[in-house]
Amino acid sequence: MTEIPLKIFLEESELPRQWHNLKAEMKNKPELFKSPKDLSDVPPEALEGLFCKELVEQEYNLTDKYIDIPDGVREFYKTFRPSPLIRARFLEKELDTPAKIYYKFEGTNTSGSHKLNSAAPQVYYAKQQGLTSLTTETGAGQWGTALAMACAFYGMPLTVYMVKVSSEQKPYRKAVIETYGAKLVASPSETTEIGRKILRENPGTGGSLGCAISEAIEAAMKTEGCRYVLGSVLNHVVLHQSIIGLETYKACEKYDIHPDIVIGCAGGGSNLGGLISPFMADKINGKLNARFIAVEPSSCPSLTRGKWAYDFGDTGKTTPLMRMYTLGSSFIPSPSHSGGLRYHGMSPIVSQLYHDGLMEAQSYDQTKVFDAAILFARSEGTLPAPESSHAIRAAINEAIKCKETGEEKTILFGLTGTGYFDMSAYIAYNNQSMSDYIPTDADLQAGFSSLVF
Ligand SMILES: *Cc1c(COP(=O)(O)O)cnc(C)c1O
Repeated sequence: MTEIPLKIFLEESELPRQWHNLKAEMKNKPELFKSPKDLSDVPPEALEGLFCKELVEQEYNLTDKYIDIPDGVREFYKTFRPSPLIRARFLEKELDTPAKIYYKFEGTNTSGSHKLNSAAPQVYYAKQQGLTSLTTETGAGQWGTALAMACAFYGMPLTVYMVKVSSEQKPYRKAVIETYGAKLVASPSETTEIGRKILRENPGTGGSLGCAISEAIEAAMKTEGCRYVLGSVLNHVVLHQSIIGLETYKACEKYDIHPDIVIGCAGGGSNLGGLISPFMADKINGKLNARFIAVEPSSCPSLTRGKWAYDFGDTGKTTPLMRMYTLGSSFIPSPSHSGGLRYHGMSPIVSQLYHDGLMEAQSYDQTKVFDAAILFARSEGTLPAPESSHAIRAAINEAIKCKETGEEKTILFGLTGTGYFDMSAYIAYNNQSMSDYIPTDADLQAGFSSLVF
């Protein structure tokens, strides 16, 4: 057999032509949007004032296993894809483990994360529909940057509501977003009704993804020809992110790699849902007996300590309800350094898989996550994003178990991005001022009390 290269790059011609719709493979489908009045189904037409039409169709499509990637999107994908699948040989050596560790690296584009995979089609479809502007929220800034890049490529005006703590922690993120031509507003802001209300009720709040979403939605609804786009959680975002899993699957087939454990960090669940997509289909169809692990911060533990409920996607309770694992839409997580993982809920697809026992979940304190990030950076070279480092933590723990048992397992994880804009987090870790905040049961109860169904 040909030797497996350290870095597996597929050819440009091997870039997938279709996304994989995991919903169509699931025996128990994720539930679609419900009305907050009486839990009745929300018809897709009702969402077309808020979201782009094509995306609503993808959101509701429970039957087509594959959906074509438009040529105009593939063209943009080719500027940064296929992304490499890398064998973490130096980390393996450092850990002295018999396990084989592979990671799919999504940090090779300028925005620095997997988010560009969904930003591209979302802007493309908006343009096709003749829309004239977009709004969105961003937590740590990766989604805002990715969307600003895609909007620059397709020529679409954009306003980004950025979670206030993140905009203060990361001034360079703001600069990059503005460099690509988008307008940036720190959230909560005085520019929307809901922003003003949140500020009145919580003066001095650092904001949250949930708040920023409410503001972006309000702005989109009040502006002619404007729609709101979201960087995670929703089914169509998981669909777009399946490009990660499809490329990984193809590379694994090509080099006869068989993952026993597939690991991803989970914020809203889109990168994880995308990475596992074809592998999970094999598991559902009885062709693969792998373990799947979602990893979240212990400061925002929606799977490991959340409730399986119908909840709003935003703090302002303006979205329809989604059935998911959630901490309650009023839960505002402590300001940890993994801004991209500070979301109260979890993708309905990932939530359903977890609920059906097809997936496991783990949570880690941020200092433990950074121990793993540092070990990875020093052995593999790449500086990981704090969010991605949750997956590294879990992968390292599994590799250490393999050392204890002598098992030569193959561990695959998603390295969702790079940490160049997270240096304030690395500074805090290096000078030992980083702390852990784990919500008490009483803290969580406050969030749960906002749940109605
Ligand atoms: C946004 C982000 C995440 C979280 O992704 P989800 O798909 O919402 O779970 C993880 N890693 C990085 C680098 C991110 O930017």
